[in-house]
Amino acid sequence: MAWDFETEPEFQEKLDWVETFVREEIEPLDLVLGNPYDKSDTKALDIVRPLQRQVREHGLWAAHLGPELGGQGYGQLKLALLNEILGQSRWAPTVFGCQAPDTGNAEILAHFGTDEQKARYLEPLLNGEISSAYSMTEPHGGADPTLFRTRAELDGGEWVITGEKWFSSNARYASFLIVMAVTNTEVSAYQGMSMFIVPADTPGVNIVRNVGIGTEPEGEGSHAYIRYENVRVPRDHLLGEEGGAFAIAQTRLGGGRIHHGMRTVGQCRRAFDMMCERALSRQTRDGPLASLEIVQEQIADSWIELEQFRLLVLRTAWLIDRYQDYRRVRKDIAAVKATMPKVLSNIAQRALHLHGALGVSNEMPFVGMLIGAESLALADGPTEVHKVTVARQVLREHKPVDGLWPSAHLPTRRADARARFAELLEHEVANA
Ligand SMILES: Cc1cc2nc3c(=O)[nH]c(=O)nc-3n(C[C@H](O)[C@H](O)[C@H](O)COP(=O)(O)OP(=O)(O)OC[C@H]3O[C@@H](n4cnc5c(N)ncnc54)[C@H](O)[C@@H]3O)c2cc1C
Repeated sequence: MAWDFETEPEFQEKLDWVETFVREEIEPLDLVLGNPYDKSDTKALDIVRPLQRQVREHGLWAAHLGPELGGQGYGQLKLALLNEILGQSRWAPTVFGCQAPDTGNAEILAHFGTDEQKARYLEPLLNGEISSAYSMTEPHGGADPTLFRTRAELDGGEWVITGEKWFSSNARYASFLIVMAVTNTEVSAYQGMSMFIVPADTPGVNIVRNVGIGTEPEGEGSHAYIRYENVRVPRDHLLGEEGGAFAIAQTRLGGGRIHHGMRTVGQCRRAFDMMCERALSRQTRDGPLASLEIVQEQIADSWIELEQFRLLVLRTAWLIDRYQDYRRVRKDIAAVKATMPKVLSNIAQRALHLHGALGVSNEMPFVGMLIGAESLALADGPTEVHKVTVARQVLREHKPVDGLWPSAHLPTRRADARARFAELLEHEVANA
């Protein structure tokens, strides 16, 4: 029997340890430490390094990676179970060495990087010594990469990059950026764009401003608007083949999206647990909120949505392990991507509302979760685009009908059935 919804006992033991470790050792850090990507924050590093050592001792460091890159090769399904727990804390992914966007950047460096690129950029990234950024979206349009204008041209032995990028997360803390640029205007965008590794201290990498999310104070955000002004990088800083940017982006974003889905399960569960606690604790004159049927409906809807979403994530992770090819799981990953903001938004909104004024205040995390859900609906591509992917892939598995009537048209089917069983039916009638 291949369908199995149980976790093997040895890995469950690890998950139990992670659950306690995150709750007791890491979640308190979320309340006192700054940005996990800021590797110049030595106070934070002094606290976090010993925790990272414990994670390594438990064989859980960089669990998204195969053994050839220093991971355990757990695969995506086990990673999903782990990320569900890590997704509940801001610092946990960094303590476990599997934080976005570094995971996706590491993945493409591992897949497409040369030995020198791996030694210089991938190794310190995997060791948690540096941070990285992914610089693809442009200010005039992000959802459609064929509109990108940033150019890279060869000049002697160097590539010269010129253009603007928007919302490059964590660029202010990054040691290097992976930049997508047009290298050939004669061919289609799908063949004419390339990826580059750009060290962040290269002259001409100018952060215009760091954009914040929601109510973050101006200038303190971590999503950079960057102007690349005649940025010169050596020829060997091309990542993968010239013209290969789209294939690389798909590799990166496929993994990145499903990992966001895994962590979002954790966020949803956190909001859901808070909702249940509140429903059982807050009294009305008729008893606790939990005794009101209208509240019970909200709890039931939230549980059902969370379980459906979690199963979709786990099944998609299982499919990736099975096929080892993101392209074959494109529809499923797109479905996860399109579902996650809605489920998180629904559950966080209901949890917020049940907390009354406290829920909307800055003393609870719900408003941040709602903004987080809206961010998930945009980062790595807007929901609409992913729904189109799902629909297109699904429609490939179907075909149009010949003739006027649908294949399920009852009178046509009945006539066909009568014709098929005519002899038998006549015989039955004659015997009656
Ligand atoms: C928190 C966060 C982090 C991010 N981090 C990064 C990063 O590290 N690096 C990076 O390069 N980018 C990053 N982005 C940018 C992200 O990839 C883009 O926001 C996204 O691709 C959408 O592009 P846009 O914002 O230009 O929106 P637009 O392309 O202007 O789209 C706006 C809206 O138009 C509609 N729309 C657009 N196209 C279609 C279509 N084909 N069909 C139907 N409707 C459509 C949708 O409603 C969409 O939301 C991040 C974004 C967020 C919110």
